[in-house]
Amino acid sequence: MNAESAISVETHTNCDHERVENITRAGRHMAFRNIDGLPIPAEVALPTCTACGTWFLNRESALTLEAAMTPVYVRELAGKAKTALAELAEQDIKQRDIEPLLGLSAGYLSKVRNDRTEPSGLLTAALMLLAVHPQMRTGELKGLWPAGAQSSLRDDRLKAIGKTLQIRNAVASTQGVRLPAELFIPEAQTAKNDSSANPSVPTHASPKQERVA
Ligand SMILES: [Zn+2]
Repeated sequence: MNAESAISVETHTNCDHERVENITRAGRHMAFRNIDGLPIPAEVALPTCTACGTWFLNRESALTLEAAMTPVYVRELAGKAKTALAELAEQDIKQRDIEPLLGLSAGYLSKVRNDRTEPSGLLTAALMLLAVHPQMRTGELKGLWPAGAQSSLRDDRLKAIGKTLQIRNAVASTQGVRLPAELFIPEAQTAKNDSSANPSVPTHASPKQERVA
């Protein structure tokens, strides 16, 4: 068997592997990415020696196997993440307290818990580690992220600040304050033009120029 054309999953036998056929069957397992012992869907056909059971994966069967195992892996990750979150909740660790420590947006872990998003292998691993000693490891993480743990500049607050700036720009534009063009908000301009005392005048000029005139 040519190592370049096929990956043989060798078991050390004296078998000559004379008959390799595409076999489907239940009860097969494999390590996939970082999880061992995942069940291979029964319907997946793998080139297999009928005498000793060794697989000989060519490119096509390797791709088929990868496509079949990915959803199995994703389901397993989700299950492990949810188990870890349940263990953290039992120890009174709040999801909203973990989210900033892991760089997640508010509510993200609720989505994981409710199957509305798929956790990555990294996130799942972090949650599993936290769940082993919830209080101690959450405390350690806070110590390692002193700025992140104490910061008040979370995503939702930044968005609120951004909105305040937009409102200020809109007010500034109606008051004729000179601001860079990109800071003007189209809605504010439209509202001003609608209330113009002289709507018949072509309004190619910017609002601030009208005000000066
Ligand atoms: Zn064989």
